[in-house]
Amino acid sequence: MQHCKNCHTQFKWKKVYQYLWGPIIKPLCCHTCDQEHSLTIKGRFTNSMLTIFPMLVFMQFLSPFQNILLTGGIGFLLGIIGSLLGPYLVGFKLDDNNQSNMI
Ligand SMILES: [Zn+2]
Repeated sequence: MQHCKNCHTQFKWKKVYQYLWGPIIKPLCCHTCDQEHSLTIKGRFTNSMLTIFPMLVFMQFLSPFQNILLTGGIGFLLGIIGSLLGPYLVGFKLDDNNQSNMI
């Protein structure tokens, strides 16, 4: 799970998840030290892939169903499940001008 880069407090999964689905421009604030974090480019990419990739692969290649609604529904479900893993895998960086702290 992600840690605050400033005080090393572990972020709550729910908070990161909400952040990933919320307006991405708004930074994620540490609940202990109020340090703002934002997603790295790679984190943003990872998050999109986790959601879209399982959905596409299932709908394009793996679906055993002829029914488009059933295929779409399960594909969508897989996307949701993929997105649940997002908070564990995305990367954050400190959201300030101190470039030396960037990871
Ligand atoms: Zn903190």
